[in-house]
Amino acid sequence: MSILVINAGSSSIKYSLYDANTLTVIDHGIIEEISNHHEGFEVMKQQLQAHKVDIAHVTAFGHRIVHGGERFTLPTLIDDSVIEEIKELTSLAPLHNLANLEGFYAARSIAPNAVHIAVFDTAFHHTMPDYAYRYALPNRLYETHRIRRYGFHGTSHSYVSAQAALLLNKPLNQLNLITLHIGNGVSACAIEKGKSIDTSMGMTPLEGLMMGTRSGSIDPGIITYLANKENMSMGEIDTLLNKQSGLLGIAGTNDMRTLIDSAQAKDSNAQLAIEMFTYRLKKQLGAYMATMSHVDGIVFTGGIGEHSAPIRTLICAELEHLGIKMDEAKNTLHHSHIDHDESSVKLLIIPANEELHIALQVKEILG
Ligand code: ADP
Repeated sequence: MSILVINAGSSSIKYSLYDANTLTVIDHGIIEEISNHHEGFEVMKQQLQAHKVDIAHVTAFGHRIVHGGERFTLPTLIDDSVIEEIKELTSLAPLHNLANLEGFYAARSIAPNAVHIAVFDTAFHHTMPDYAYRYALPNRLYETHRIRRYGFHGTSHSYVSAQAALLLNKPLNQLNLITLHIGNGVSACAIEKGKSIDTSMGMTPLEGLMMGTRSGSIDPGIITYLANKENMSMGEIDTLLNKQSGLLGIAGTNDMRTLIDSAQAKDSNAQLAIEMFTYRLKKQLGAYMATMSHVDGIVFTGGIGEHSAPIRTLICAELEHLGIKMDEAKNTLHHSHIDHDESSVKLLIIPANEELHIALQVKEILG
């Protein structure tokens, strides 16, 4: 028995094949610059064949679907009605959900007898209370269009919180955590008794913290100002905010390694980008600490969160008054526990593994 986890983007397909009993990886890969998903799946089929795996014999597929709206709060067996509902949610995440569905269609045509399960990036955040997920806009916009905050990176926040419970040797439902997913996309999640109570991304993944190429939260007034002053179309503004902003917009690159080297060489734009990036994360930590009665641990994950000691140092600097004190030696060595003995809040580095978390959820459904 095997489980194939698929993350189908608009131009690439990532896959990880697991043994369904042991959840060990049999094979994984990425097919990039695909012209369509059927072609991409043909390439994947050949790559798997080279490892003596026949894709037609895979037991179950786990499909990462970005937007589950209010409807999908759990992993869901995909049938015709579910496809229709995912399509209806496309307006909330046009690029992502369509590509995810294309991936599903290609997988279904190649393995029609397998079980296909959708795992939603928004699902973990369905426990947010209304006062956290509603925008202060007229009610009718929520009632008519479901305009609200949904949050993303849910599979990642959920996975690392479960791993944190193991590392801290305490049941997840007794833990209050703040998880920081810091990669190209960046989001924070406040987790109370194991459940998401707030997260920094919103109706789309654009809201919140400064990211690799996304601006994160800005004054919405800037959008009308740009439309008027620079005569920009909505499409151009969307591209500006999603693809030309963030670290890239301030310092010309979104590669944190390059930025850290440039900042050390006294490049003022790189220094500013890093200051802005870590200042916002520090503010987010403070905000979430204020919303919870106490915080047991803070988790760093994602490419930057896992690998960049200087960024972690800057985020946690001078937070002793909140009970946060980092052990610099452990931080430099990327230990899993990087808190100082005097820190009342545990500080953890946990590698992201969204694929494994999807495989786990598929396995639970198969069981
Ligand atoms: P995505 O959100 O696309 O999955 P990742 O989680 O892989 O992205 O994170 C990508 C980011 O991680 C890039 O900014 C990259 O520069 C950064 N990164 C990866 N390795 C390191 C490292 N050793 N030090 C600092 N930054 C790193």
